[in-house]
Amino acid sequence: MIASITTSHETPRVIRMHAADNVAIVVNDLGLPAGTELPDGPVLLEHVPQGHKVALTDIAKGAAVRRYDVIIGHAAADLAAGSWVNERRLVMPPAPGLEGLPLATHPAVMDAPLDGYTFEGFRNADGSVGTRNLLAITTTVQCVSGVVEHAVRRIRAELLPKYPNVDDVLGIEHIYGCGVAIDVPDAEIPIRTLRNIARNPNFGGGTMVVSLGCEKLQPERLLPGPSAYDLVTLQDPAHVGFEAMITSIMTTAEQHLARLDRRRRETCPASDLVVGMQCGGSDAFSGVTANPALGFASDLLVRAGATVMFSENTEVRDGIAQLTARAATPDVARAIIEELGWYDRYLARGQADRSANTTPGNKKGGLSNIVEKAMGSIVKSGSAPIAGVVRPGERAKVKGLLYAATPASDFVCGTLQLAAGMTLHVFTTGRGTPYGLAAVPVIKVATRTDLARRWHDLMDVDAGRIATGEASIADLGWEMFHTYLDVASGRRRTCAERLRLHNSLALFNPAPIT
Ligand code: CA
Repeated sequence: MIASITTSHETPRVIRMHAADNVAIVVNDLGLPAGTELPDGPVLLEHVPQGHKVALTDIAKGAAVRRYDVIIGHAAADLAAGSWVNERRLVMPPAPGLEGLPLATHPAVMDAPLDGYTFEGFRNADGSVGTRNLLAITTTVQCVSGVVEHAVRRIRAELLPKYPNVDDVLGIEHIYGCGVAIDVPDAEIPIRTLRNIARNPNFGGGTMVVSLGCEKLQPERLLPGPSAYDLVTLQDPAHVGFEAMITSIMTTAEQHLARLDRRRRETCPASDLVVGMQCGGSDAFSGVTANPALGFASDLLVRAGATVMFSENTEVRDGIAQLTARAATPDVARAIIEELGWYDRYLARGQADRSANTTPGNKKGGLSNIVEKAMGSIVKSGSAPIAGVVRPGERAKVKGLLYAATPASDFVCGTLQLAAGMTLHVFTTGRGTPYGLAAVPVIKVATRTDLARRWHDLMDVDAGRIATGEASIADLGWEMFHTYLDVASGRRRTCAERLRLHNSLALFNPAPIT
């Protein structure tokens, strides 16, 4: 009960996103108690937790509840001004149709290009630029994972110290490769994902593969064409026993380490950056603090000529009309519709829809439903025209702001953005997640100062300063932009890098398993 006393002595703070909104969210760390008089607003009829919505006017049963100037639902019962508006008091609207959407009607005119911003990166023969210098060992099948993991430990301990310009070694381990329907159309998604991850710019251009031998995903199917790769096959008759396999892997790895060790960072224009954005463990502040700051920084990246991706199909579905209107061309708009239509059908096959996205934590954090979550998620994409669509598992082919069509699942989205060529990952969270990847630095941004304080060694940036009024969205946006350049250059290591927190890759495999 100390909580409510403390709260009552604080200045009540609420945030309304748009003048047309009839709800606002509570900023104060401990929420606000019944009887609190809001500045220019009603008196609270009940306790409203932090991040949750309060009705600013009387909202009759069936009337629209607006946040971000968007209808996030309709009142399930009469809501008096000062009421707590939560998921039980809202009826979610149906998803917008995919017919008759605006096609490239409102692509934004961007401010002048930003010249002169650079970072120190590792340039590859194909022109791409890495932010880290890593030896990645690609695998064709899960069967080899234990052996590769053992080899990676030995390489790190015994070989890596001899090659000081190489940052680390990692195995590209996954659960695909055999026991799957590999000739069906959807199998192309996990296969091209693995293929393009093997070619991620952070891996220096050469590819090393460990195969079992009898698996469905044969190395030449994973990496077809003339591209060269070094292959170790565990079932090779030359391998007598486990140690022989490890020796083979380590011998091949050492050749790659010697090659990678000769690479040096060089000054590259910011246009060589490929940034992947996503959010996870979101709350109602995600769309107020961290995601708008990312959106501001995303526009700066676009003006600097870089590539920046946003994703998460179920979190943009309710805002599809905004996206198709913002597309640079009608073809890009049609590609967005095609990908989200495919995803609707994929979800329907499993008797789900986009409403399956929200988590108990999202709701506890004040996000009543997927419509509200989506509006907060999309603001990551800033205001730039959408220059292209990356289908799941494909590599990005154009620069600018891209929609990488991926599931919202943090691990699956990160894995697909890695395949798209991401060399830097930025991740916003309100509830808190220690997420990290071995292949790219992950910059984590807390939506609330309370989280940034508690998780002081897990969060890289505190965007909660926007809610408290200590910083503007533009201040944070510029700070993010400079953070990207610093982390990309290796001048700054992220929390997840320092603690070596690496989540597993998670392939998106919509095809059947046999
Ligand atoms: Ca996510």
